[in-house]
Amino acid sequence: MIAAMGEFCAYCERPIEAMNLDVEHIKPQKKHGKLALTWNNFLLACTSCNTYKRHYQGAIRQTGILRKQAWPHLDNTFFAYSYDQHGRVTVSTGLGSVEHQQMAQRTLEMAGLDRTPAVAASYQSLGLVYDITSRRGKAWNKAQIALAAYQQNPTDIQRQSILGQAEETGFFSIWMSVFAAHPDVKSGLVTTFKAAPACFDGMGNQLNPRQIGRI
Ligand SMILES: [Zn+2]
Repeated sequence: MIAAMGEFCAYCERPIEAMNLDVEHIKPQKKHGKLALTWNNFLLACTSCNTYKRHYQGAIRQTGILRKQAWPHLDNTFFAYSYDQHGRVTVSTGLGSVEHQQMAQRTLEMAGLDRTPAVAASYQSLGLVYDITSRRGKAWNKAQIALAAYQQNPTDIQRQSILGQAEETGFFSIWMSVFAAHPDVKSGLVTTFKAAPACFDGMGNQLNPRQIGRI
């Protein structure tokens, strides 16, 4: 997802409270001076993803790493990943080239989006609670129930109620996946989550993810 400024982590998509918020400087502040003050140089990330990312980058630091990954503010990362009912995130099979698949995979590893409960156990030694997989699974279930209700009663009131639930729950990509066949709900989700409309193909009112930027 490309989100200019939302209240959700750019990586794991959970809602972020002010207490649990890191403004991430994509380029090191010291090296780039004024650049660090420009808006498009920021990503909002939760402390969990940001901490994991710092450790990951520290472990594999190498020249040019920034260019080799998919970034939520530059690339259509919604297009890059698939979500399922178990709360798992995997690289989408729809990505055209091996290079793009590798970029998406590196970002997945960097932010720890593929962390398993076993990995999470050691991660807790860092003092952070990792519960994102189960939270994603719960969000999927909630979205499925909302979908069933909407299929029975596809009214505007019902749609507004779904958007309210989605905003409270977070996990934009999960709601977009579950409501894949309902462009009216999807367009409301794009607005609610402040996702960039340019990421989605509005032609034919299908609102499918569009391949833009580098991915
Ligand atoms: Zn996060």
